[in-house]
Amino acid sequence: MNVVVQKFGGSSVADVEKVRKVAERVAAASRDGRRVCVVVSAMGKTTDELLALAKRISPSPARRELDMLLTAGERISMALLAMALEDLGVPAVSFTGSQAGILTDEMHASARIVEVRPVRVWEELDRGRVVIVAGFQGVSPRKEVTTLGRGGSDTTAVALAASLGADCEIYSDVDGVYTADPRVVTGPRRLDEISYEEMQELARAGAKVLNAEAVEFAREKGIAIHARATSGSTAETVVRGHAAPGGRVAGVTSQKGLALVEVPWGGLEAALGALSRRGAIPSEVAAHGGRALVVLPLDNVHEWTVARGELVAAVPDAAVDDRDAGSVSVVGARAGAGPGLLLDVVAALREVGEEPRALLAGPLRVTAWCAAARAPDAVRLLHRRLVEEAG
Ligand code: ASP
Ligand code: MG
Repeated sequence: MNVVVQKFGGSSVADVEKVRKVAERVAAASRDGRRVCVVVSAMGKTTDELLALAKRISPSPARRELDMLLTAGERISMALLAMALEDLGVPAVSFTGSQAGILTDEMHASARIVEVRPVRVWEELDRGRVVIVAGFQGVSPRKEVTTLGRGGSDTTAVALAASLGADCEIYSDVDGVYTADPRVVTGPRRLDEISYEEMQELARAGAKVLNAEAVEFAREKGIAIHARATSGSTAETVVRGHAAPGGRVAGVTSQKGLALVEVPWGGLEAALGALSRRGAIPSEVAAHGGRALVVLPLDNVHEWTVARGELVAAVPDAAVDDRDAGSVSVVGARAGAGPGLLLDVVAALREVGEEPRALLAGPLRVTAWCAAARAPDAVRLLHRRLVEEAG
């Protein structure tokens, strides 16, 4: 009998009614004769609320304790979903990441899954139960509870699907991957299919629809991801295969919550050391003309004020721009076709009144760093020109 992993994001389990709807969906799959393993995120904005709660206690909470706190969010949804399924007459059991055999490294707040040993998941599936696993969490070799970084439930789902040899379906409030965030542009198009590489680039450049590390896992293990809407629409985007050379723009996206750190070349090592001790992992590092630039996404950096202080203590010449740093990116094989796209991005930024602070052009992505507040305007302009008007 085939196994399917179905992951439901925070907005799909945001309240009791929605949890019941998810239970009905899962029950239907189970009655169809599929063995179902469900991965859930925390309800609605629970993770943000727990983070805010921690910040009220301490301005720089220890990452170990934050992980203890944040993992509670997913525990709430997993237990409620199990109860809802039982009420529908579907036997179900919930597991924390640790109980489900999600083994990670020691990196609190952005741990990586190193292995999945789903012994108990198999036992319960074999007994005919639906197994519900808390997303976004695992356990380290020292038996510490870890979290996988924001949006990490996707990674739990893909890793479990790989280890169970299962199909992987990721449900959210949108029916797939669009050429831009539907909350930012008015005419985004849903992609029927997107390659692993393009999806990874989009996710790294700020698209929230799927987690970058989850896509990386799927690519490594050759798992197709089916991104669908919980509401029951039959549309979907399938993430699989490789980027076809050619003129396509897969998407336009923006990112906020970055820090741009500039240091003299000689201070780069000390700067990276100071940052990594506080769990700050750069997305890009570049150097030229005696200066180095480090781009830091701050989503999973919970001790930023402390990290910044230690950075400046280690490298007094460091210049840190963390007030309104963001980026705009265009993703797709067309990025590699010449400098045209890079110039389009620069032109769009200037039209919205921004001079790019840094630029990057690779085979699948062009990124310009700018004020985060201006980035959505640039996304709208670029999407209109490169997707809507391109036919
Ligand atoms: N609840 C976690 C978050 O908000 C994990 C997830 O939703 O995937 O980031
Ligand atoms: Mg999510």
